[in-house]
Amino acid sequence: MTVQSVIRISLGVILVWQIWFLHIRMGVRWGGKRKRKRAKERKGSKGKKKPKKPFEGLTRKPVCEQCAAEAEKQEQEVKREPPPKIERERGRKQEIDTSRQFCPETECRYYGWLDRGNIISNGHPSGGPWRQLKCVACGKYFQETIGTVFYGSSILAEDIMRAIATLCEGMSPRKVARIFKVDKDTVLSWLVEAAKHSEAVIGYMIHNLELTQVQMDELYALLSGMRGEGEKRGQCWVWTAMDSFSKLWLAVEVGDRSLGMAQRLVHGVVSVLVPGVVPMFLTDQLASYGKALLTHSGCWVERVSEKSERTLRRWMPVEQLRYAQVEKKRRRRKIVAVTTQVVYGTKEAVASALAAVGHKINTAFIDRLNRTLRSHVPGLGRREEGLAKTKEGLLGRLQLVMGY
Ligand SMILES: [Zn+2]
Ligand SMILES: [Zn+2]
Repeated sequence: MTVQSVIRISLGVILVWQIWFLHIRMGVRWGGKRKRKRAKERKGSKGKKKPKKPFEGLTRKPVCEQCAAEAEKQEQEVKREPPPKIERERGRKQEIDTSRQFCPETECRYYGWLDRGNIISNGHPSGGPWRQLKCVACGKYFQETIGTVFYGSSILAEDIMRAIATLCEGMSPRKVARIFKVDKDTVLSWLVEAAKHSEAVIGYMIHNLELTQVQMDELYALLSGMRGEGEKRGQCWVWTAMDSFSKLWLAVEVGDRSLGMAQRLVHGVVSVLVPGVVPMFLTDQLASYGKALLTHSGCWVERVSEKSERTLRRWMPVEQLRYAQVEKKRRRRKIVAVTTQVVYGTKEAVASALAAVGHKINTAFIDRLNRTLRSHVPGLGRREEGLAKTKEGLLGRLQLVMGY
């Protein structure tokens, strides 16, 4: 092979490489003009969007599993009469207020009843920080911290509180354990206990709300543990709902991206509202929300069919229900277009209700909450260490942040 032929081959390689560079990297598309022209012609002939048909209703009433379970539970619950109040006539007058404590002994007649006079204070055993209490009806002794994360712990309450705060700020249990010089499992047990307590407190505090606007969304999460059958490993969705005005976080659920989960979330929202109140709902374009809302805010409507002239019975949204969706078109993870559509209710009614408070159809508030959660809860961020292992673990952390 001569020197000339070597130079010719190498020049040829450089030329091919330059063509490739122009084609791929600079975005030059050969014959692009012709293709674009054809696409335009096609769009002109049939590309126009057909106007959407108005919603015609469902033939069957959608069932909410949570509502059914609650109704069954209420049926089985035996109504208990309050036990008589115990008045102490003899002895020193009680100085410690124990009216917010109840007997934890499930067999005791006074179990679960507050302010019945059965709980007395019994001082601080061994000079410890927490008071001991006694139920005079059954004789059970217990610490005043029962049912909280401080129960039975020798670590200072202040330290436990600080450790929980660092967990809420997104630090992993391993790091918290190193900072507070305790075992990792101790931190995990605090996490579980505090999450349980947080859920109970939220349930006690948030109820009978009169809301006018609720935003809902679902965000992708990663778990480090193995998953059940038929589910992709490590993937799940966090469903959240919030009030647009007070920014109160109303409900959180962890699971797959299905109708059942959308119904769970809507059930969570409806259960904290005053019965009969129907706020306006704003979500992304996921279709499950529409049916989930119909599950809780629907009614049977009869109308005569134009074609067959038969009377049709359809499950339709109640008159007060207004629901709009925000559709975001993304290209390479960036939002390139935002469109909105009204699903239930009229466009005018939705627009006027939102304009009255200076809003447009949007999901900006719930998006903001999701960004906060991504930085506070492991598994929701982009680059993560210390992912939650299971759905329950992730839900626990979310409930902890919700109460925080
Ligand atoms: Zn329900
Ligand atoms: Zn008792």
